[in-house]
Amino acid sequence: MYPNVQLFIDGAWSDAAAGKTLPVVNPATGEAIGTLAHAEIPDLDRALAAAERGFATWRVMSAYDRSKIMRKAADLVRSRVDDIARLMTLEQGKPYAESKGETAGAADVIDWMAEEARRTYGRVVPARAEGILQLVIKEPVGPVAAFTPWNFPLNQANRKIAAALAAGCSIIVKGSEETPASLAAYVQCWADAGLPAGVLNLVYGVPSVISEYLVPHPIIRKISFTGSTPIGKHLAALAGTYMKRATMELGGHAPAMIFDDADLDRAASILSANKFRNAGQVCVAPTRFLVQAGVHDSMVDKFVAKAEAIKVGDGMAEGTTMGPLANARRVPAMESLIADAVAKGATIRTGGKRIGNVGNFFEPTVLTGVTPDMRVMNEEPFGPVALFSRYDSFDEIVAEANRLPFALASYAYTSSNRTVTLLGQRVEAGMLSINHHGIALPEVPFGGIKDSGYGSEGGLEAVEAYLNTKLVTQSI
Ligand code: NAD
Repeated sequence: MYPNVQLFIDGAWSDAAAGKTLPVVNPATGEAIGTLAHAEIPDLDRALAAAERGFATWRVMSAYDRSKIMRKAADLVRSRVDDIARLMTLEQGKPYAESKGETAGAADVIDWMAEEARRTYGRVVPARAEGILQLVIKEPVGPVAAFTPWNFPLNQANRKIAAALAAGCSIIVKGSEETPASLAAYVQCWADAGLPAGVLNLVYGVPSVISEYLVPHPIIRKISFTGSTPIGKHLAALAGTYMKRATMELGGHAPAMIFDDADLDRAASILSANKFRNAGQVCVAPTRFLVQAGVHDSMVDKFVAKAEAIKVGDGMAEGTTMGPLANARRVPAMESLIADAVAKGATIRTGGKRIGNVGNFFEPTVLTGVTPDMRVMNEEPFGPVALFSRYDSFDEIVAEANRLPFALASYAYTSSNRTVTLLGQRVEAGMLSINHHGIALPEVPFGGIKDSGYGSEGGLEAVEAYLNTKLVTQSI
């Protein structure tokens, strides 16, 4: 049912040199379902040497040929969606349909990056004198170290892998130790597509041991991290010490702004689907629902009805629309944030509790009357909790939206063109989606500002992040 996951180094699967393994747990049952190999320094040295050789091979392959291998990998991922998705649901908990969507989406990202691989254009800058040619050339930065989390085991790693490979870089990925098999099955697709040895390497182990070794290492030229803001700040500082380029995709606390003239049915339907997707463990999940007074109560009623219609259960069971939390530590994290909010005056409109005592199941939860002094209004809940508060004016809503240091995604619902335009100008966020949910497509930029990080993992910017700009100026 679930494999014992090995390390993928230099084009081959292997156990860790010291033979150490870690258990993998199914969050729906609490049972150990397999193991993963646990890399230590000798394994990392092997991965580094492989990535250096892989880079030498991959950077000189034509963009045309690289693109062909990438599209073949995408086709293989697509043809193995069912198997990869099953592994993902067993290790991460999300409903099988969501796992399938994530896997198919990964194939789409690879396809898009494969096309971009052929368009890493430079330019010719007009010179000041005859006989001088000024060339701007784009070159791959070199071997990359990437660190990816458990909430989207494929998507978070795939965005880094596909963009780095499109640019001509090699990469060492440290996937999440909690969700290793779906990523390993995806890596096998690359191997079967004919990716040369060493271009893509996959390791697991103690996250801090691996990052403290790889980030400073002279072979590594760029790092990319997706995860929490505190760890991101730590790794960004380490990257700075060693002058490594970095992309940081960190936490969020997305505001969903709902104005008096909004289409409430549309807002409730789209926002609830995105709030409770992946049990709310999504960096762009709508979290702070900032609602104008005239529609506050009816918006809450519509949203609560949606929350109460969710079927929580094992992600492999027919009809499940929300799985368990992905790891046991998220359950007390939810309980303590909700207890603090209630102690400070919030009302639980629905949910608020753990379900049963087997697996990490938690009720879809809606809190009203939340205020900025509550922890949950300041810390990323990363769980199935929606926070509603009431405001009179546009300015008050935007002030609350911009209050936090997080600034990743934001959402708004209004039928006023004027409000739409003002939101575009005033909201501090990496992404603002108005009257629909339109973020995280391969072709559009994806990333945050302020404490949510820097750099982009979508659109043209995603490949640019793995390219150096070189000037060659020549005289005949
Ligand atoms: P955490 O802060 O311990 O870990 C977050 C991620 O970073 C994990 O994947 C972990 O393996 C990795 N990590 C931790 N220390 C590291 C290090 N020194 N070097 C390299 N990688 C390291 O927290 P957690 O309990 O796993 O998750 C809790 C919080 O993390 C959530 O509440 C959420 O805020 C954030 N998170 C964000 C995302 C995202 O998509 N931006 C994903 C997962 C978790």
